Amino acid sequence: MERYNLVVIGGGSGGLVVAAGGVGLGARVALVEKHALPFTPPDGPPVQGMGGDCLQYGCVPSKALLAAAKAAHAARFGIRGAGDPGPQDLGPVMERVRAAQAAIAPNDSVERFTGLGVDVLLGAGRLKSPHEVEVNGTTVWGRNVVVATGSRARIPDVPGLADSGFLTNESIFDLRVLPKRLLVMGGGPIGVELGQAFRRLGSEVTIVSSSAHVCPKEDADVAAVLAAALRDEGVVVHDDARASSVAVRGGARVVAVTRKDGTSVDVETDAILVAAGRRPNVEGLGLEAAGVAFSEKAILADAKCRTNVPSVWAIGDVAGPYLFTHWAGYQAGIVLRNTLSPIALAKCDVENTPWVTYTDPEIARVGLSEEDAKAQGVPHRVFQAAFAHNDRAICDGTGGANFAKVVIDPKGRILGAAIVHPHAGDLLGEVVLAKKNGLPLSALGSVIHPYPSLSEIHGAVAREALKTSLTPGRKALLVKLAAFLRR
Ligand code: FAD
Repeated sequence: MERYNLVVIGGGSGGLVVAAGGVGLGARVALVEKHALPFTPPDGPPVQGMGGDCLQYGCVPSKALLAAAKAAHAARFGIRGAGDPGPQDLGPVMERVRAAQAAIAPNDSVERFTGLGVDVLLGAGRLKSPHEVEVNGTTVWGRNVVVATGSRARIPDVPGLADSGFLTNESIFDLRVLPKRLLVMGGGPIGVELGQAFRRLGSEVTIVSSSAHVCPKEDADVAAVLAAALRDEGVVVHDDARASSVAVRGGARVVAVTRKDGTSVDVETDAILVAAGRRPNVEGLGLEAAGVAFSEKAILADAKCRTNVPSVWAIGDVAGPYLFTHWAGYQAGIVLRNTLSPIALAKCDVENTPWVTYTDPEIARVGLSEEDAKAQGVPHRVFQAAFAHNDRAICDGTGGANFAKVVIDPKGRILGAAIVHPHAGDLLGEVVLAKKNGLPLSALGSVIHPYPSLSEIHGAVAREALKTSLTPGRKALLVKLAAFLRR
Protein backbone atom coordinates (compact mmCIF):
# COMPACT_ATOMS: atom_id res chain seq x y z
CA MET A 1 0.00 0.00 0.00
CA GLU A 2 1.34 3.47 -0.93
CA ARG A 3 2.10 5.54 2.17
CA TYR A 4 1.73 9.30 2.34
CA ASN A 5 2.13 12.04 4.90
CA LEU A 6 -1.11 13.54 3.64
CA VAL A 7 -4.03 12.05 1.76
CA VAL A 8 -6.36 14.88 0.75
CA ILE A 9 -9.93 14.10 -0.32
CA GLY A 10 -11.25 16.93 -2.49
CA GLY A 11 -9.31 19.13 -4.92
CA GLY A 12 -11.09 22.43 -4.34
CA SER A 13 -10.17 25.68 -2.60
CA GLY A 14 -9.02 23.94 0.58
CA GLY A 15 -7.64 20.63 -0.69
CA LEU A 16 -5.49 22.15 -3.43
CA VAL A 17 -3.73 24.45 -0.96
CA VAL A 18 -2.99 21.52 1.36
CA ALA A 19 -1.65 19.45 -1.55
CA ALA A 20 0.56 22.17 -3.05
CA GLY A 21 1.76 23.35 0.35
CA GLY A 22 2.40 19.77 1.49
CA VAL A 23 4.73 18.85 -1.38
CA GLY A 24 6.36 22.26 -1.06
CA LEU A 25 7.22 21.40 2.53
CA GLY A 26 8.69 18.03 1.55
CA ALA A 27 5.72 15.78 2.35
CA ARG A 28 4.45 12.92 0.22
CA VAL A 29 0.90 13.86 -0.81
CA ALA A 30 -1.98 12.08 -2.55
CA LEU A 31 -4.89 14.21 -3.76
CA VAL A 32 -8.18 12.46 -4.46
CA GLU A 33 -10.64 14.33 -6.69
CA LYS A 34 -13.77 12.95 -8.28
CA HIS A 35 -14.65 15.79 -10.63
CA ALA A 36 -12.27 17.49 -13.04
CA LEU A 37 -13.59 19.45 -16.03
CA PRO A 38 -11.84 20.00 -19.36
CA PHE A 39 -10.80 23.61 -20.04
CA THR A 40 -8.88 25.15 -22.92
CA PRO A 41 -6.89 28.12 -21.58
CA PRO A 42 -6.24 31.05 -23.94
CA ASP A 43 -2.48 30.56 -23.94
CA GLY A 44 -1.75 26.91 -23.36
CA PRO A 45 -2.78 23.31 -23.92
CA PRO A 46 -6.11 21.90 -22.65
CA VAL A 47 -6.14 20.98 -18.96
CA GLN A 48 -8.28 18.99 -16.54
CA GLY A 49 -9.49 21.63 -14.11
CA MET A 50 -10.09 20.60 -10.54
CA GLY A 51 -10.78 23.59 -8.27
CA GLY A 52 -14.11 22.48 -6.80
CA ASP A 53 -17.07 24.82 -6.56
CA CYS A 54 -14.97 27.96 -6.67
CA LEU A 55 -13.64 27.40 -10.18
CA GLN A 56 -16.39 25.21 -11.56
CA TYR A 57 -19.71 26.43 -10.13
CA GLY A 58 -19.03 29.22 -7.65
CA CYS A 59 -16.81 32.26 -7.22
CA VAL A 60 -15.25 32.37 -10.67
CA PRO A 61 -18.30 31.87 -12.92
CA SER A 62 -20.49 34.04 -10.68
CA LYS A 63 -18.03 36.92 -10.67
CA ALA A 64 -17.50 36.65 -14.41
CA LEU A 65 -21.29 36.66 -14.87
CA LEU A 66 -21.62 39.70 -12.58
CA ALA A 67 -18.99 41.53 -14.64
CA ALA A 68 -20.88 40.79 -17.86
CA ALA A 69 -24.14 41.84 -16.21
CA LYS A 70 -22.56 45.08 -15.00
CA ALA A 71 -21.45 45.87 -18.55
CA ALA A 72 -24.94 45.10 -19.89
CA HIS A 73 -26.47 47.29 -17.16
CA ALA A 74 -24.12 50.20 -17.88
CA ALA A 75 -24.80 49.94 -21.60
CA ARG A 76 -28.53 49.89 -21.04
CA PHE A 77 -28.50 52.91 -18.75
CA GLY A 78 -25.84 54.86 -20.61
CA ILE A 79 -26.72 54.29 -24.21
CA ARG A 80 -29.98 52.52 -24.80
CA GLY A 81 -32.05 53.90 -21.95
CA ALA A 82 -33.44 52.08 -18.95
CA GLY A 83 -35.94 49.32 -19.38
CA ASP A 84 -34.68 47.79 -22.63
CA PRO A 85 -34.90 44.02 -22.50
CA GLY A 86 -31.55 42.29 -22.15
CA PRO A 87 -30.16 39.91 -24.72
CA GLN A 88 -32.15 36.71 -25.04
CA ASP A 89 -29.14 34.73 -26.16
CA LEU A 90 -26.91 34.04 -23.19
CA GLY A 91 -24.32 32.26 -25.34
CA PRO A 92 -21.78 35.10 -25.59
CA VAL A 93 -22.12 35.89 -21.89
CA MET A 94 -21.57 32.30 -20.85
CA GLU A 95 -18.65 32.05 -23.28
CA ARG A 96 -17.05 34.90 -21.40
CA VAL A 97 -17.73 33.10 -18.11
CA ARG A 98 -16.16 29.95 -19.53
CA ALA A 99 -13.16 31.96 -20.77
CA ALA A 100 -12.54 33.34 -17.26
CA GLN A 101 -12.71 29.81 -15.87
CA ALA A 102 -10.37 28.53 -18.57
CA ALA A 103 -7.83 31.27 -17.84
CA ILE A 104 -7.73 30.27 -14.17
CA ALA A 105 -8.04 26.50 -14.66
CA PRO A 106 -4.32 25.73 -15.25
CA ASN A 107 -3.63 26.84 -11.70
CA ASP A 108 -6.00 24.20 -10.34
CA SER A 109 -5.27 21.53 -12.94
CA VAL A 110 -4.38 17.88 -12.62
CA GLU A 111 -1.40 18.62 -14.87
CA ARG A 112 -0.03 21.35 -12.58
CA PHE A 113 -0.44 19.33 -9.41
CA THR A 114 1.12 16.24 -10.96
CA GLY A 115 4.02 18.47 -12.03
CA LEU A 116 4.39 19.71 -8.47
CA GLY A 117 4.88 16.11 -7.33
CA VAL A 118 1.38 15.42 -5.98
CA ASP A 119 -0.06 11.97 -6.74
CA VAL A 120 -3.44 12.95 -8.18
CA LEU A 121 -5.93 10.10 -7.94
CA LEU A 122 -9.05 10.76 -10.01
CA GLY A 123 -12.12 9.14 -8.48
CA ALA A 124 -14.33 9.27 -5.41
CA GLY A 125 -12.43 8.82 -2.16
CA ARG A 126 -13.84 6.83 0.75
CA LEU A 127 -12.37 6.35 4.19
CA LYS A 128 -11.97 2.70 5.12
CA SER A 129 -10.31 3.42 8.46
CA PRO A 130 -8.75 6.45 10.19
CA HIS A 131 -5.67 6.16 7.93
CA GLU A 132 -6.91 4.39 4.80
CA VAL A 133 -8.65 5.90 1.79
CA GLU A 134 -10.01 3.83 -1.07
CA VAL A 135 -10.16 5.24 -4.61
CA ASN A 136 -11.33 3.13 -7.55
CA GLY A 137 -10.58 -0.09 -5.66
CA THR A 138 -7.05 0.98 -4.64
CA THR A 139 -6.32 1.81 -1.03
CA VAL A 140 -3.72 4.35 0.05
CA TRP A 141 -2.47 5.05 3.57
CA GLY A 142 -2.08 8.50 5.06
CA ARG A 143 -0.43 9.51 8.31
CA ASN A 144 -3.05 12.24 8.08
CA VAL A 145 -6.21 12.39 6.00
CA VAL A 146 -7.66 15.81 5.15
CA VAL A 147 -11.32 15.88 4.18
CA ALA A 148 -12.05 18.90 1.95
CA THR A 149 -15.07 17.72 0.00
CA GLY A 150 -17.02 20.98 -0.01
CA SER A 151 -20.77 21.52 -0.07
CA ARG A 152 -23.70 21.63 -2.46
CA ALA A 153 -27.00 23.47 -2.68
CA ARG A 154 -29.55 22.52 -0.03
CA ILE A 155 -32.80 21.69 -1.76
CA PRO A 156 -35.75 22.69 0.44
CA ASP A 157 -38.63 20.31 0.75
CA VAL A 158 -41.17 22.36 -1.19
CA PRO A 159 -44.12 20.44 -2.66
CA GLY A 160 -43.91 20.37 -6.45
CA LEU A 161 -40.37 21.78 -6.64
CA ALA A 162 -38.67 18.57 -7.73
CA ASP A 163 -41.31 17.85 -10.38
CA SER A 164 -41.20 21.39 -11.77
CA GLY A 165 -37.44 21.29 -12.28
CA PHE A 166 -35.07 23.92 -10.92
CA LEU A 167 -31.58 25.33 -11.29
CA THR A 168 -28.77 25.40 -8.73
CA ASN A 169 -25.32 26.97 -8.85
CA GLU A 170 -24.21 23.79 -10.65
CA SER A 171 -26.62 24.12 -13.57
CA ILE A 172 -27.25 27.85 -13.92
CA PHE A 173 -24.01 28.50 -15.81
CA ASP A 174 -25.14 25.96 -18.43
CA LEU A 175 -28.03 28.21 -19.49
CA ARG A 176 -27.69 29.50 -23.03
CA VAL A 177 -31.05 31.23 -23.27
CA LEU A 178 -31.92 33.97 -20.80
CA PRO A 179 -35.03 33.05 -18.79
CA LYS A 180 -37.61 35.80 -19.25
CA ARG A 181 -38.57 35.39 -15.59
CA LEU A 182 -36.39 33.95 -12.82
CA LEU A 183 -37.47 33.25 -9.25
CA VAL A 184 -34.61 32.92 -6.77
CA MET A 185 -35.28 30.95 -3.60
CA GLY A 186 -32.95 32.45 -1.04
CA GLY A 187 -31.80 35.98 -0.22
CA GLY A 188 -28.28 35.10 0.91
CA PRO A 189 -25.11 36.10 -0.95
CA ILE A 190 -25.52 33.53 -3.75
CA GLY A 191 -29.18 34.44 -4.29
CA VAL A 192 -28.64 38.20 -4.42
CA GLU A 193 -25.50 38.01 -6.56
CA LEU A 194 -27.07 35.76 -9.18
CA GLY A 195 -30.44 37.52 -8.88
CA GLN A 196 -28.87 40.89 -9.63
CA ALA A 197 -26.77 39.44 -12.45
CA PHE A 198 -29.80 37.95 -14.21
CA ARG A 199 -31.85 41.10 -13.68
CA ARG A 200 -29.10 43.15 -15.27
CA LEU A 201 -28.91 40.73 -18.17
CA GLY A 202 -32.62 41.28 -18.75
CA SER A 203 -34.60 38.71 -16.74
CA GLU A 204 -37.51 39.71 -14.54
CA VAL A 205 -36.22 38.54 -11.17
CA THR A 206 -38.08 37.76 -7.96
CA ILE A 207 -36.10 36.95 -4.82
CA VAL A 208 -37.87 35.09 -2.03
CA SER A 209 -36.00 35.56 1.23
CA SER A 210 -37.02 33.69 4.38
CA SER A 211 -35.43 36.27 6.67
CA ALA A 212 -36.46 39.82 7.53
CA HIS A 213 -34.10 41.18 4.90
CA VAL A 214 -31.69 39.96 2.21
CA CYS A 215 -28.17 39.09 3.41
CA PRO A 216 -29.48 38.14 6.86
CA LYS A 217 -25.99 37.94 8.37
CA GLU A 218 -25.59 41.68 7.84
CA ASP A 219 -27.14 44.47 9.89
CA ALA A 220 -30.54 45.63 8.64
CA ASP A 221 -29.27 49.14 7.78
CA VAL A 222 -26.45 47.69 5.66
CA ALA A 223 -28.67 45.18 3.86
CA ALA A 224 -31.30 47.88 3.27
CA VAL A 225 -28.92 49.77 0.96
CA LEU A 226 -28.50 46.70 -1.21
CA ALA A 227 -32.21 45.85 -1.08
CA ALA A 228 -33.07 49.38 -2.25
CA ALA A 229 -30.56 49.09 -5.11
CA LEU A 230 -32.03 45.74 -6.15
CA ARG A 231 -35.58 47.11 -6.06
CA ASP A 232 -34.49 50.21 -8.00
CA GLU A 233 -33.23 47.92 -10.73
CA GLY A 234 -36.56 46.16 -10.83
CA VAL A 235 -35.88 43.07 -8.71
CA VAL A 236 -38.95 42.08 -6.71
CA VAL A 237 -37.86 41.09 -3.21
CA HIS A 238 -40.20 39.24 -0.87
CA ASP A 239 -38.81 39.39 2.68
CA ASP A 240 -39.98 37.13 5.50
CA ALA A 241 -41.43 34.80 2.91
CA ARG A 242 -40.97 31.30 1.61
CA ALA A 243 -41.90 29.34 -1.46
CA SER A 244 -44.57 27.02 -0.12
CA SER A 245 -45.44 25.10 -3.29
CA VAL A 246 -44.66 24.95 -6.98
CA ALA A 247 -47.03 23.96 -9.76
CA VAL A 248 -46.56 23.79 -13.51
CA ARG A 249 -49.34 25.52 -15.44
CA GLY A 250 -49.32 25.95 -19.19
CA GLY A 251 -45.55 25.75 -19.53
CA ALA A 252 -44.85 28.21 -16.69
CA ARG A 253 -44.00 27.46 -13.10
CA VAL A 254 -46.25 29.00 -10.51
CA VAL A 255 -44.64 29.45 -7.13
CA ALA A 256 -46.86 30.12 -4.12
CA VAL A 257 -44.97 32.62 -1.99
CA THR A 258 -46.25 32.66 1.58
CA ARG A 259 -45.36 35.57 3.83
CA LYS A 260 -44.79 35.37 7.57
CA ASP A 261 -48.19 36.99 8.19
CA GLY A 262 -49.84 34.05 6.40
CA THR A 263 -50.76 35.92 3.21
CA SER A 264 -49.79 34.31 -0.05
CA VAL A 265 -49.10 35.42 -3.59
CA ASP A 266 -48.63 33.33 -6.75
CA VAL A 267 -45.54 34.21 -8.78
CA GLU A 268 -45.33 32.94 -12.35
CA THR A 269 -41.82 32.22 -13.52
CA ASP A 270 -39.92 30.47 -16.29
CA ALA A 271 -37.05 29.25 -14.15
CA ILE A 272 -36.34 28.71 -10.46
CA LEU A 273 -32.90 29.06 -8.91
CA VAL A 274 -32.51 27.33 -5.56
CA ALA A 275 -30.01 29.22 -3.41
CA ALA A 276 -31.39 28.37 0.00
CA GLY A 277 -28.31 27.35 1.94
CA ARG A 278 -25.74 24.61 1.62
CA ARG A 279 -25.29 20.98 2.64
CA PRO A 280 -21.89 19.42 3.42
CA ASN A 281 -20.66 16.71 1.05
CA VAL A 282 -20.38 13.86 3.54
CA GLU A 283 -22.28 11.09 1.77
CA GLY A 284 -20.32 8.04 0.66
CA LEU A 285 -17.16 9.30 2.37
CA GLY A 286 -16.94 6.42 4.83
CA LEU A 287 -16.96 8.78 7.80
CA GLU A 288 -18.84 6.16 9.80
CA ALA A 289 -16.20 3.51 9.01
CA ALA A 290 -13.46 5.80 10.26
CA GLY A 291 -15.52 6.87 13.28
CA VAL A 292 -15.56 10.55 12.28
CA ALA A 293 -18.39 12.53 13.89
CA PHE A 294 -20.56 14.73 11.68
CA SER A 295 -23.95 16.39 11.66
CA GLU A 296 -26.23 17.35 8.80
CA LYS A 297 -24.51 20.75 8.79
CA ALA A 298 -20.82 19.81 8.91
CA ILE A 299 -18.08 17.43 9.88
CA LEU A 300 -17.41 18.28 13.51
CA ALA A 301 -13.95 19.82 13.68
CA ASP A 302 -12.35 22.09 16.29
CA ALA A 303 -10.53 25.39 15.77
CA LYS A 304 -7.40 23.38 14.94
CA CYS A 305 -9.38 21.66 12.14
CA ARG A 306 -9.15 18.32 14.01
CA THR A 307 -12.04 15.90 13.96
CA ASN A 308 -12.66 13.50 16.84
CA VAL A 309 -10.32 11.03 15.04
CA PRO A 310 -6.74 12.26 15.53
CA SER A 311 -5.53 11.41 12.01
CA VAL A 312 -8.53 12.94 10.22
CA TRP A 313 -8.83 16.69 9.60
CA ALA A 314 -11.65 18.62 7.97
CA ILE A 315 -11.50 22.01 6.23
CA GLY A 316 -13.55 24.26 3.97
CA ASP A 317 -17.28 24.10 3.38
CA VAL A 318 -17.58 20.56 4.71
CA ALA A 319 -16.41 21.79 8.12
CA GLY A 320 -17.36 25.49 8.23
CA PRO A 321 -18.09 27.64 10.11
CA TYR A 322 -17.51 29.94 7.13
CA LEU A 323 -18.20 28.89 3.55
CA PHE A 324 -15.66 30.92 1.64
CA THR A 325 -12.74 30.14 -0.62
CA HIS A 326 -10.36 32.28 1.42
CA TRP A 327 -11.48 30.54 4.62
CA ALA A 328 -10.88 27.10 3.09
CA GLY A 329 -7.42 28.22 1.93
CA TYR A 330 -6.66 29.69 5.34
CA GLN A 331 -7.71 26.49 7.11
CA ALA A 332 -5.49 24.58 4.69
CA GLY A 333 -2.51 26.52 6.03
CA ILE A 334 -3.52 25.67 9.61
CA VAL A 335 -3.75 21.96 8.74
CA LEU A 336 -0.37 22.02 7.00
CA ARG A 337 1.19 23.49 10.10
CA ASN A 338 -0.62 21.13 12.46
CA THR A 339 0.18 17.97 10.50
CA LEU A 340 3.70 18.63 9.22
CA SER A 341 5.06 20.67 12.12
CA PRO A 342 2.86 19.52 14.99
CA ILE A 343 4.79 20.99 17.91
CA ALA A 344 2.24 23.54 19.08
CA LEU A 345 -1.03 23.22 17.21
CA ALA A 346 -2.27 26.39 15.49
CA LYS A 347 -5.86 27.57 15.78
CA CYS A 348 -8.03 29.29 13.19
CA ASP A 349 -8.63 33.00 13.69
CA VAL A 350 -12.39 33.09 13.27
CA GLU A 351 -12.88 36.67 14.44
CA ASN A 352 -10.74 38.32 11.80
CA THR A 353 -12.23 36.59 8.78
CA PRO A 354 -13.66 39.02 6.24
CA TRP A 355 -16.30 38.31 3.64
CA VAL A 356 -17.84 40.13 0.74
CA THR A 357 -21.13 39.89 -1.11
CA TYR A 358 -20.20 40.90 -4.64
CA THR A 359 -23.39 42.69 -5.62
CA ASP A 360 -23.51 46.32 -6.74
CA PRO A 361 -23.10 47.81 -4.19
CA GLU A 362 -20.91 45.22 -2.50
CA ILE A 363 -21.27 44.46 1.18
CA ALA A 364 -18.01 43.78 3.03
CA ARG A 365 -17.85 42.61 6.62
CA VAL A 366 -15.43 41.58 9.31
CA GLY A 367 -16.01 40.69 12.95
CA LEU A 368 -18.94 41.60 15.14
CA SER A 369 -21.90 43.39 13.60
CA GLU A 370 -23.75 46.11 15.49
CA GLU A 371 -26.81 43.88 15.88
CA ASP A 372 -24.70 40.94 17.13
CA ALA A 373 -22.95 43.20 19.64
CA LYS A 374 -26.35 44.30 20.97
CA ALA A 375 -27.76 40.77 21.02
CA GLN A 376 -24.70 39.40 22.80
CA GLY A 377 -24.60 42.25 25.31
CA VAL A 378 -21.07 43.22 24.26
CA PRO A 379 -20.22 46.77 25.43
CA HIS A 380 -19.69 48.74 22.25
CA ARG A 381 -20.04 52.00 20.37
CA VAL A 382 -20.69 52.43 16.65
CA PHE A 383 -19.35 55.10 14.33
CA GLN A 384 -20.16 55.54 10.70
CA ALA A 385 -19.50 57.79 7.73
CA ALA A 386 -21.43 58.24 4.51
CA PHE A 387 -19.88 58.04 1.06
CA ALA A 388 -22.21 60.92 0.15
CA HIS A 389 -19.54 63.13 1.83
CA ASN A 390 -16.54 61.38 0.24
CA ASP A 391 -15.30 63.52 -2.66
CA ARG A 392 -14.17 60.58 -4.77
CA ALA A 393 -17.50 58.83 -4.38
CA ILE A 394 -19.26 62.08 -5.33
CA CYS A 395 -17.11 62.33 -8.50
CA ASP A 396 -17.70 58.63 -9.29
CA GLY A 397 -21.39 58.85 -8.58
CA THR A 398 -21.10 56.14 -5.92
CA GLY A 399 -22.05 58.22 -2.87
CA GLY A 400 -25.76 57.55 -2.63
CA ALA A 401 -26.82 55.77 0.52
CA ASN A 402 -23.55 53.86 0.81
CA PHE A 403 -21.67 54.00 4.09
CA ALA A 404 -19.05 52.42 6.32
CA LYS A 405 -19.43 51.66 9.99
CA VAL A 406 -17.12 50.38 12.66
CA VAL A 407 -18.06 48.79 15.98
CA ILE A 408 -15.53 49.44 18.77
CA ASP A 409 -15.13 48.34 22.37
CA PRO A 410 -14.96 50.84 25.26
CA LYS A 411 -11.18 51.12 24.78
CA GLY A 412 -11.63 52.05 21.12
CA ARG A 413 -10.44 48.71 19.71
CA ILE A 414 -12.20 47.50 16.59
CA LEU A 415 -14.70 44.70 17.14
CA GLY A 416 -16.16 44.68 13.66
CA ALA A 417 -16.84 46.68 10.54
CA ALA A 418 -19.20 46.76 7.59
CA ILE A 419 -18.96 48.70 4.36
CA VAL A 420 -21.60 48.99 1.67
CA HIS A 421 -20.28 50.50 -1.54
CA PRO A 422 -19.47 49.21 -5.07
CA HIS A 423 -15.82 48.80 -3.98
CA ALA A 424 -16.46 47.71 -0.39
CA GLY A 425 -14.51 44.47 -0.77
CA ASP A 426 -11.32 46.25 -1.75
CA LEU A 427 -11.77 48.89 0.95
CA LEU A 428 -12.16 46.46 3.84
CA GLY A 429 -8.54 45.24 3.96
CA GLU A 430 -7.25 48.22 5.92
CA VAL A 431 -9.82 47.69 8.66
CA VAL A 432 -9.08 43.95 8.80
CA LEU A 433 -5.38 44.67 9.25
CA ALA A 434 -6.11 47.14 12.04
CA LYS A 435 -8.57 44.82 13.76
CA LYS A 436 -6.32 41.77 13.49
CA ASN A 437 -3.51 43.71 15.13
CA GLY A 438 -5.69 45.03 17.94
CA LEU A 439 -5.38 48.63 16.79
CA PRO A 440 -7.89 51.24 17.91
CA LEU A 441 -10.19 52.97 15.45
CA SER A 442 -8.10 56.11 15.93
CA ALA A 443 -5.27 54.29 14.09
CA LEU A 444 -7.36 54.50 10.91
CA GLY A 445 -7.58 58.24 11.49
CA SER A 446 -3.82 58.58 11.84
CA VAL A 447 -3.17 57.10 8.38
CA ILE A 448 -2.73 59.62 5.55
CA HIS A 449 -5.22 58.57 2.89
CA PRO A 450 -4.65 59.96 -0.60
CA TYR A 451 -7.10 62.59 -1.84
CA PRO A 452 -9.52 62.03 -3.47
CA SER A 453 -9.82 58.35 -2.65
CA LEU A 454 -12.58 56.13 -1.34
CA SER A 455 -10.18 55.03 1.40
CA GLU A 456 -10.67 58.42 3.05
CA ILE A 457 -13.87 56.89 4.40
CA HIS A 458 -11.79 55.17 7.12
CA GLY A 459 -10.45 58.51 8.32
CA ALA A 460 -13.99 59.90 8.24
CA VAL A 461 -15.28 57.11 10.51
CA ALA A 462 -12.34 57.63 12.88
CA ARG A 463 -13.06 61.37 13.02
CA GLU A 464 -16.64 60.65 14.07
CA ALA A 465 -15.23 58.81 17.09
CA LEU A 466 -12.74 61.59 17.74
CA LYS A 467 -15.55 64.14 17.87
CA THR A 468 -17.11 62.32 20.82
CA SER A 469 -13.84 62.55 22.74
CA LEU A 470 -14.19 66.34 22.73
CA THR A 471 -16.26 66.53 25.93
CA PRO A 472 -17.61 69.92 27.13
CA GLY A 473 -14.85 69.93 29.80
CA ARG A 474 -12.08 69.35 27.24
CA LYS A 475 -13.62 71.90 24.88
CA ALA A 476 -13.68 74.53 27.68
CA LEU A 477 -10.03 73.81 28.40
CA LEU A 478 -9.13 74.26 24.72
CA VAL A 479 -11.02 77.56 24.58
CA LYS A 480 -9.03 78.77 27.62
CA LEU A 481 -5.75 77.62 26.06
CA ALA A 482 -6.55 79.44 22.79
CA ALA A 483 -7.40 82.60 24.71
CA PHE A 484 -4.10 82.34 26.60
CA LEU A 485 -2.13 81.82 23.36
CA ARG A 486 -3.47 85.00 21.75
CA ARG A 487 -2.66 87.28 24.68
P1 FAD B 1 -14.76 22.89 -2.99
O1 FAD B 1 -13.92 23.97 -3.53
O2 FAD B 1 -16.14 22.78 -3.49
O3 FAD B 1 -14.00 21.53 -3.31
C1 FAD B 1 -14.52 20.29 -2.92
C2 FAD B 1 -14.01 19.26 -3.90
O4 FAD B 1 -14.18 17.96 -3.34
C3 FAD B 1 -14.76 19.25 -5.22
O5 FAD B 1 -13.85 19.37 -6.27
C4 FAD B 1 -15.48 17.91 -5.25
O6 FAD B 1 -15.56 17.36 -6.55
C5 FAD B 1 -14.55 17.07 -4.39
N1 FAD B 1 -15.16 15.90 -3.75
C6 FAD B 1 -16.31 15.83 -3.05
N2 FAD B 1 -16.48 14.58 -2.57
C7 FAD B 1 -15.42 13.86 -2.98
C8 FAD B 1 -15.02 12.52 -2.80
N3 FAD B 1 -15.75 11.65 -2.08
N4 FAD B 1 -13.88 12.11 -3.37
C9 FAD B 1 -13.11 12.97 -4.10
N5 FAD B 1 -13.45 14.25 -4.30
C10 FAD B 1 -14.58 14.69 -3.74
N6 FAD B 1 -16.51 32.04 -1.79
C11 FAD B 1 -15.75 33.16 -1.74
O7 FAD B 1 -14.84 33.24 -0.91
N7 FAD B 1 -15.97 34.20 -2.58
C12 FAD B 1 -16.95 34.17 -3.50
O8 FAD B 1 -17.13 35.13 -4.25
C13 FAD B 1 -17.77 33.02 -3.59
N8 FAD B 1 -18.75 32.94 -4.50
C14 FAD B 1 -19.51 31.82 -4.58
C15 FAD B 1 -20.53 31.76 -5.52
C16 FAD B 1 -21.31 30.65 -5.62
C17 FAD B 1 -22.40 30.60 -6.65
C18 FAD B 1 -21.07 29.53 -4.77
C19 FAD B 1 -21.90 28.29 -4.86
C20 FAD B 1 -20.06 29.57 -3.83
C21 FAD B 1 -19.27 30.72 -3.71
N9 FAD B 1 -18.26 30.81 -2.77
C22 FAD B 1 -17.51 31.95 -2.69
C23 FAD B 1 -17.98 29.71 -1.83
C24 FAD B 1 -16.78 28.88 -2.29
O9 FAD B 1 -17.01 28.39 -3.58
C25 FAD B 1 -16.57 27.74 -1.31
O10 FAD B 1 -16.52 28.24 -0.01
C26 FAD B 1 -15.28 27.00 -1.60
O11 FAD B 1 -15.28 26.46 -2.88
C27 FAD B 1 -15.11 25.88 -0.57
O12 FAD B 1 -13.93 25.20 -0.81
P2 FAD B 1 -13.82 23.66 -0.41
O13 FAD B 1 -12.41 23.25 -0.66
O14 FAD B 1 -14.39 23.43 0.92
O15 FAD B 1 -14.80 22.92 -1.42
